[in-house]
Amino acid sequence: MHRRLVNRRTVNATVALTIIFVASAVFTGAVHAQRRTAATTPANSIPSPKSVFGFDPGQDRTIIDWKQITDYFARLDKASDRVQVTNIGTSTLGRQMIAAIISAPENIRNLDKYKAIQAKLADPRKVVSDAERDELVRDGKTVVAISCSIHSTEIVASQMSTRLAYELASDNRPDTLAILQNTILILIPSPNPDGVDIVANHYRKTFGTNAEGSSPPELYHYYAGHDDNRDWFMLDLKETKNITRLFWKEWFPQIVYDIHQQGSNGSRFFVPPFYDPPNPHINALLLRQVGLIGHKMAADVTAAGYRGILTNALYDTWWHGGFRTAPYFHNSIGILTEAASARLMTPSNVTREQLARSSTRGMNSAMEVSTNFPNPWAGGTWRPSDIMGMELIACHSVLSLAANYRADYLRNFYELGKAGLAQLTSADSLGYLISAGQGRDENVAKMIGTLVEQGVEVYRLDKELHGSAVAQYLAKLPNGKREITYVGAIAGGPPEIPAGSYVVFLNQPYRQNVLALFEPQVYPDRTTANGEAERPYDVAGWTLPMSMGVNTQLLTNLTEPPNERKLTLIKSENDVRKDLALPLWTSDKSPIVNPVKPGIRIAVYQNSRSGNMDEGWTRYVFDAFNVPYKSANETVLNDTDPSANFDAIVLPSEQTRANPDSDAPTQGETARGISDKGYANLAKFVEGGGTLICFDGSCAAVIKQMKLPLRNVLAGVRSSDFYCPGSILRINVDTANPLARAMSKDMDAYFINSSAFETTDNKVQVVARYGKDDVLRSGWLRGEDRIKDKIALAEVAMGKGRIVLFAFRPQHRGQTWGTFPFIWNAINLSSGQ
Ligand SMILES: [Zn+2]
Repeated sequence: MHRRLVNRRTVNATVALTIIFVASAVFTGAVHAQRRTAATTPANSIPSPKSVFGFDPGQDRTIIDWKQITDYFARLDKASDRVQVTNIGTSTLGRQMIAAIISAPENIRNLDKYKAIQAKLADPRKVVSDAERDELVRDGKTVVAISCSIHSTEIVASQMSTRLAYELASDNRPDTLAILQNTILILIPSPNPDGVDIVANHYRKTFGTNAEGSSPPELYHYYAGHDDNRDWFMLDLKETKNITRLFWKEWFPQIVYDIHQQGSNGSRFFVPPFYDPPNPHINALLLRQVGLIGHKMAADVTAAGYRGILTNALYDTWWHGGFRTAPYFHNSIGILTEAASARLMTPSNVTREQLARSSTRGMNSAMEVSTNFPNPWAGGTWRPSDIMGMELIACHSVLSLAANYRADYLRNFYELGKAGLAQLTSADSLGYLISAGQGRDENVAKMIGTLVEQGVEVYRLDKELHGSAVAQYLAKLPNGKREITYVGAIAGGPPEIPAGSYVVFLNQPYRQNVLALFEPQVYPDRTTANGEAERPYDVAGWTLPMSMGVNTQLLTNLTEPPNERKLTLIKSENDVRKDLALPLWTSDKSPIVNPVKPGIRIAVYQNSRSGNMDEGWTRYVFDAFNVPYKSANETVLNDTDPSANFDAIVLPSEQTRANPDSDAPTQGETARGISDKGYANLAKFVEGGGTLICFDGSCAAVIKQMKLPLRNVLAGVRSSDFYCPGSILRINVDTANPLARAMSKDMDAYFINSSAFETTDNKVQVVARYGKDDVLRSGWLRGEDRIKDKIALAEVAMGKGRIVLFAFRPQHRGQTWGTFPFIWNAINLSSGQ
């Protein structure tokens, strides 16, 4: 293998070659194999990836798909007593998801024992004494989860998983044996198997053409695309649910390492520590342990000869809902690495000029030396094997730390759980109350179900409580001027908590998770050197009760303590559904009753040339609510009369439209997106009585094309003057409008670099406006004055039909259940068949 690479090496490949050798030496080093203990395995009895696939995964222009990956793991399971493959559920499109448990044979034979130890360490209430704690720490193993290629175009790690597993299954060097004896590895070859095949099929289809190495045109997760890594507190997707169960009900890993790739032209490898701001609910001990592992990775990869390793940049820990951030709120260490991408499995060339132009938070240029980027890469050919080499080393860094400091990891994990049970500093805060009888039963059921699924304890109050005081929750913004008031349904009501209410106590091992989900986020106002807003890595606010439209209150000063007689632990969403007389989950199919009138024919626009995550989430929400619809692509809208087939058409948020009519066709494709003719067809559709529903980014083109009397006051405004990157804002709703049926006057809406309209035409019916004051509820809003009292939701009559324009995102990432009913109300304005 090495000789073949040498034959076509370049200056850059010399570096790559060295690293590949070092990376393999870390695990294989068969020359030094020691076979003295019973745990050693004759390496030749284990099938190598090369012997099975005919090439080493990671080699240029090779790819293995999900079937090949799972077949290989099945072989390892059979051949090696160090590997046990377990089925962890099915994917959205029905593929089998797997995790390979890898450890020493004596550990593999006793997995139930180690699971029991983990369950106790995760919940210190189950540990009766310090002596028992010490015993658990002495006997337990560090449980490490490594997950590959959740983002399917970041494909190399999925290929790497076979080599990592092989090397651990076959190598007998002392450090590998120490890893096997002291750790239990949960290796997830991919948490998105559907996407591995979407990418592998696309790669094979375009292989040898100009499009080789391009991304597939569709979303690589059926609903979420790239947002499959934005679901880890919401648990909408089957994949997220399966792994959440594996992690936070079964294995409680101390370390979760999520392997990603980033763009091609910047640093070669990002490893933690992360950038600012940190989430205030992540324990300092976790952040320090994250930094330790990141620096170990950086040192090992640098020692192996790699250049361009970056720490303390771009990626932050503020936002909650990612694969490696959810662990922080389960007292676990979450690690992310981001290798520079090639072109899928095809090498790419990166010039010095491209590197010099690449900058991000914490890195002025990918050519500039700094303390957190001491050794820039000089450019040249970048190969999948470079990516794989670094990832293999990083996996080894994690595993060797986990093995060598096993007792520290176990003890720290236990102590963090214990901290969640410690006396609260403020005597006022006992927990959160979700009071009975507030309506929005589906939202309440989903929210509690989701909390319970991720290991948060929620109790039902079976008997009312008296003599309690329920305080409103107040959070001050950093400028000290405004307050966010968490208005509760029974605030100021009778001093009694009604039976059937739900209580989430703060005294639980996952206290930080409760706080991070229930409290309003107060994102710091951060500015770049040129005065623009410094973009957070993801969104700034996500407070769950707000996005879900569920009333909660901070529970304080109970004079009559709740006891076991009054409290029942909720086990699943179905427990809540029973309480609220909702239909139960009996299979994977959502039991929610379709809120749309029968006979209305609905189309959801789908750009078939480039995946749109907002479109995917729209389909998710429609499927979750059992609302029937058809996807209509640009050909349908551009070339046919939609009124013949549809009564309501939804245009998900999409801002990528670049004058499709003037675009010269590329690569044999015709124009992209909805054309002028398509908008003319949509105008005819509305005039004939249709309902056109536009979400956020799709409004601009409709306003322009149909000459609607609305103006987005935020268009063209600089981020120094206005900025709101994913936050929850207050809207005031005209509840007399049919579009607001069953909604409240004061509501929360999701704004993510969205719009705000004004009009001078009284034929625009204003359904909702952003708040007159205290607009920000959770997240970050700079320049509140520009948005105050501006239109958030409008209806414009046209001919016999209407256009409904959402300035915000009513179904953002399947999380904003509070505003879903606006969508159903809009559709229900249609007359249907
Ligand atoms: Zn990624």
